[in-house]
Amino acid sequence: MYIICIAAVLTSLACTNDSTPAPQEPCGFVQNAYGQRVSLKGKLLKLYFDSNFPTQYYNDVTNGIQTWEKAIGHKVFDLQEDPLPASSPTQDGVSVIYWLDTWDPALQSQQANTTIYWDGNEITEADLKFDASYYAMSDNPNNTTIDMASLVLHELGHALGLKHDDADPSVMATYLSTGFERRALYDSDLSHIQCEY
Ligand SMILES: [Zn+2]
Repeated sequence: MYIICIAAVLTSLACTNDSTPAPQEPCGFVQNAYGQRVSLKGKLLKLYFDSNFPTQYYNDVTNGIQTWEKAIGHKVFDLQEDPLPASSPTQDGVSVIYWLDTWDPALQSQQANTTIYWDGNEITEADLKFDASYYAMSDNPNNTTIDMASLVLHELGHALGLKHDDADPSVMATYLSTGFERRALYDSDLSHIQCEY
């Protein structure tokens, strides 16, 4: 078992103007049509739990946020304590951590998936989705599940604009073996995140 989780991306380009932005080094980030890194650009990402997300995993989320923010050196997430009513992911300008009973068959090999939306080069929304049935089904004593803290850290990386990194030891690697903990950033993760933030 392993995770794959992609940052599916949608972009609405600003109106064309005379000056075409110069492309940037990727530094592990999703880039827009001009080759510019896509990120929060100094804004806080206001992030909600949906009410189905189990409170037992709240700590994994706050720890993951702390790990990224420690590397960045300042706050980037604005995690809301009060959950929103459970709903389905949609592009609505609200960033939510979903816990979904119904999982897209096309994502069957993934335990989580994050979609980011941006305008220009600024992320405007990130929706983090977790497959509830995977964790319900494998809630067993044999430690055969994907480590939730590691998974959350990875998905939060997507919410910051990072894409998969399979060339280096990285929390953004596509795959994670069951029972393996990958809860700390590697040197490559630090250099990538500090390149942009
Ligand atoms: Zn991923």
